[in-house]
Amino acid sequence: MNNSKANLSRRKFIKGAGASSVAAVMGTSFSANAMENNPKSVYEEIYGDDVNSIYTKKGTSPGPKGPIGFEDRKISNSEIAKSYDFDVAVVGGGIAGLIAALKAAEDGAKVVLLEKMTKGRGIFECFGSVDSRTQREANIKTNKAELLDEIHRSADYRIGPDVVRTYVEKSGEATDFMEKMFNKGERGVVISPMPLKPKYPNTGAPVIDAECMFYNTPGLPKNVKFRSGFVGVQIIKDLANTAMKHPNIETKYSTPAVQLVTNGSGQVTGVIAKENNEYIKVNTNKGVILASGGYDANPEMMKAFLRPEDYSSASWWNPSWGTTGDGHMMGLKVGAAMDPVPHSVMNFTFGSPESFHIPAVRTLRAMGLYAIVNDEGKRFVREDVAFQSISNATNRQATQGKKSWLLFDDTMISKNKDIFDKAIASFETLKAKGWLFEGNSPRELEAALDVPNGNLVNTIEKFNSFKLKGVDADFNRDMEFAKEFNGKKYYALLCNSVILATVSGLIIDENGRVLNEKGEAIKGLYAAGNASGDFFSGNYPRHIPGTSIGRAITFGYLSAKHAVKGA
Ligand SMILES: Cc1cc2nc3c(=O)[nH]c(=O)nc-3n(C[C@H](O)[C@H](O)[C@H](O)COP(=O)(O)OP(=O)(O)OC[C@H]3O[C@@H](n4cnc5c(N)ncnc54)[C@H](O)[C@@H]3O)c2cc1C
Repeated sequence: MNNSKANLSRRKFIKGAGASSVAAVMGTSFSANAMENNPKSVYEEIYGDDVNSIYTKKGTSPGPKGPIGFEDRKISNSEIAKSYDFDVAVVGGGIAGLIAALKAAEDGAKVVLLEKMTKGRGIFECFGSVDSRTQREANIKTNKAELLDEIHRSADYRIGPDVVRTYVEKSGEATDFMEKMFNKGERGVVISPMPLKPKYPNTGAPVIDAECMFYNTPGLPKNVKFRSGFVGVQIIKDLANTAMKHPNIETKYSTPAVQLVTNGSGQVTGVIAKENNEYIKVNTNKGVILASGGYDANPEMMKAFLRPEDYSSASWWNPSWGTTGDGHMMGLKVGAAMDPVPHSVMNFTFGSPESFHIPAVRTLRAMGLYAIVNDEGKRFVREDVAFQSISNATNRQATQGKKSWLLFDDTMISKNKDIFDKAIASFETLKAKGWLFEGNSPRELEAALDVPNGNLVNTIEKFNSFKLKGVDADFNRDMEFAKEFNGKKYYALLCNSVILATVSGLIIDENGRVLNEKGEAIKGLYAAGNASGDFFSGNYPRHIPGTSIGRAITFGYLSAKHAVKGA
């Protein structure tokens, strides 16, 4: 890794924006309960009471700032109200933290789980896994070498081999452990292999069969598939219940970890947290596991570590205010190495200026027939690549207008009545918001959209000629799966880029141990999930199935295993 960059980054946010903002936020606005009392809710219709499991805050960049837990100052012994002794402390009650806490507890350790919010973050639907029980029984044989190479290739080979190799080798074991925990739970969560869908078959990227899902769980809300990521709420609830009942685990919600404790030789020996506005100290003899997620609710960190265009061009959709990079900051403070900048961000494409996931956009995406144009009415990306790539290209449009429009006509949506009805039902609302424009001809649509004269008409004519020839001379889209524009109505629907999570973090080894800048393990310190690094570089590769949750489960499990047993 690039040490000088890591050093620079570290100074920049500990001494600069990060530190001052930490103080400001802690002084004024930490109130998990206030957030819970005001859940903004596209979720309500699906989850009813369960809606309180998620805090939504969405908006344009710079996005919302969550309650930062990390404190960059010396907390003296006289400020500590209580001390506790545990074997293992886990920071964060999302998927990585719950798996870590349960694994450590099952292996006999006394565990405290500290979660900053009133509930842990849970937002996902599927996850990557290789050779789990359910996959073995379905006779799925993942090509491990291909998966390994594709993760490396997607990171442009800027990551080390150990963490990824371990993911490929151990994710099945970790999934089986999670299944065991579901069997102890109350919701009867079922893990099954994700049916293989050749989503991006024409782009040269391999379609790798290494994904599992929860959709076969009886009792999931009816509509759950329709809203991306919402299954995760149920999963986190189930695991959290199991953790709360576990005799070896003490769960402390609304209790942000604020800094790590080290001894004279740099070993991490505990963590200081804030409980009921008092500092508590947790002494650990086996380890602290940082599972505090990314920093998508920390605009200063976003600005410091992301590509400027990712930070400034994307809409924002953050399902939890808790992910403020506390674990990153705590780790850096004790000498940890971090992924070099720019960090990787999980992008998505279903964005409006104020939210994520317009149903009509999703419906249309399913058709896959549209063209994508920018504010100038020009195509800028082949439309049949993974969402991530379209997002990247969209964000890169900053100099040409920040918007991205799906361009389609009535013939592209009318063939499937169900899709047509769903899309049309939302059109009036979208038009009123200025997110959808229409015209009776390409020329009329061009005027309605106010793009420079002739551009949109030319784009449509060119697109039709590519379809006729079967070759997209501009972007190499597979024209077999495109349709010419020849309808009676022409539409342009806004579809911007959205940030879902940051996925770069502290450098770890194959056991989840956090490394310092010399590549040595910092004794007593582990990281898992989005707080950890050395897995992605520059990109979150969406065409590789579910690696973010897969990584979180795997390294939550492995770091706990290593902390307790040393192997
Ligand atoms: C709409 C959507 C859909 C998604 N779908 C998928 C999918 O299908 N598959 C996939 O692989 N990924 C998906 N993701 C990404 C996924 O949500 C994250 O990558 C994943 O949740 C990361 O897990 P984690 O345990 O590392 O962190 P998180 O889930 O972010 O959990 C971190 C927890 O730590 C807590 N915390 C933070 N600081 C402190 C502190 N100081 N003290 C105590 N607690 C703290 C936070 O409050 C939070 O509860 C999706 C994301 C979105 C937004």
